[in-house]
Amino acid sequence: MRITLDELELNRIVISKTYASGTLDYHGAEFRQIAPLKVEAVAELVGSEIRVRGHLGTRLETSCDRCLSPVGIPLEQDFDLFYRPIQAIAREEEFEVPADELEVGFFSGDGIELADVVTEQVILSVPMKVVCRAECQGLCPVCRANRNVNRCDCAPPQDKSPFASLKED
Ligand SMILES: [Zn+2]
Ligand SMILES: [Zn+2]
Repeated sequence: MRITLDELELNRIVISKTYASGTLDYHGAEFRQIAPLKVEAVAELVGSEIRVRGHLGTRLETSCDRCLSPVGIPLEQDFDLFYRPIQAIAREEEFEVPADELEVGFFSGDGIELADVVTEQVILSVPMKVVCRAECQGLCPVCRANRNVNRCDCAPPQDKSPFASLKED
């Protein structure tokens, strides 16, 4: 769905759209969308900027950072975004956006694509590190067994190894 300036000049646009899983391109992100994504929003013109505000909800799945088992991430996200025409940048170089106030993006051409707005919001909302639970024991560094499921008898790796200092945590 495209949000165009032509349309916005006549009226604000009320958006209610559902994207089935698999229909949005998350650019190779390490999560999957496992439920329909619903977005309810309003788009309007504010001066020369397009403002899109609303709410999106879906459910994602990613891997636990420690044990690699699947972890569900429910996502309910409010957003209030401004998109400035890219042609305006050169003219408004002295214009500064207060860093804490607004989220401003840019658009070129006749408008913005709703799917781009939505995918960007989802990608920004996913935490960098996800664990299945706070006390997750992770994988055994020796045999790769999931230590939440079975306790293997591997000896802990020797700290005297010449490579010990190169090892990651
Ligand atoms: Zn885990
Ligand atoms: Zn082991």
